[in-house]
Amino acid sequence: MKIYLSSDMEGTAGVVDWSQCLAPSAEYEYYRGLLQNEVNAAIEGAMSAGATSFLVNDSHSSMQNLRPDTLLGDARYLSGRHKPMYMMEGLDSSFDAIFFISYHGSMASEASALSHTYNPRAITRVLLNGTEVGESGINALVALGHGVPIVLITGDDTTAEEAERVCPGIHSAVVKTSVTRFAADSLHPTAACALIREAAAAAVKGLGSAKPPQIELPATLEVLFHNGDLAEMATRITGVTKIDARTVTITDDDPIRLFRTFITVVLLTRAIVE
Ligand SMILES: [Zn+2]
Repeated sequence: MKIYLSSDMEGTAGVVDWSQCLAPSAEYEYYRGLLQNEVNAAIEGAMSAGATSFLVNDSHSSMQNLRPDTLLGDARYLSGRHKPMYMMEGLDSSFDAIFFISYHGSMASEASALSHTYNPRAITRVLLNGTEVGESGINALVALGHGVPIVLITGDDTTAEEAERVCPGIHSAVVKTSVTRFAADSLHPTAACALIREAAAAAVKGLGSAKPPQIELPATLEVLFHNGDLAEMATRITGVTKIDARTVTITDDDPIRLFRTFITVVLLTRAIVE
């Protein structure tokens, strides 16, 4: 049984500030260890329920936050920048299930530690078929394209709630409750890892009834930017339509192509953020 793990960092218990999850800093060196423990807890839990093979796609910042030799389960490690499928690189239909580890809430959400949607300096809000989504919902397009269910998400309370909108019945390990974008009440790291182990095991045991994300096709992403220049820049990509000064939409019957267009928007608009 093959499990695909996409790991971010903002959702780790204890993490509440950019300085804790961006290299280089002593703080980052400490918190990357806590992230590694949470990734390993998910692998351990999955193994206890019968999972045998793991691919960890490091999806945070420059995407090289983990230590490959201390990954459990003889996990393969997909790391580094400019991955065409970004947070979903390496996924294909040979996988049985997907875990989202240490994810965070969307930019438009209720208080969620370090909330953002791909680019905190560009994107204000994203709707998927009219529903407000975070990175979990956008990444779910790729899961749908390959027909693989997302069965576990870890992070704060808001992150869990957002994933449920697109993946009803998803198992979640809520390791912290956010107070603001820069404050949260976290479980002790040991308790957080215990919770993640339990949730991962339950998610794998429940695989029989798990379904791919519930997203109607053709699907539409509506992206609201911080300013009109960003929206204008986005329209230079084929298939991106401006509907008002700061908002564009992308509609596609192929969920993977839709995701790729969105990622291209993210990469292109990065050039003109303030
Ligand atoms: Zn991140």
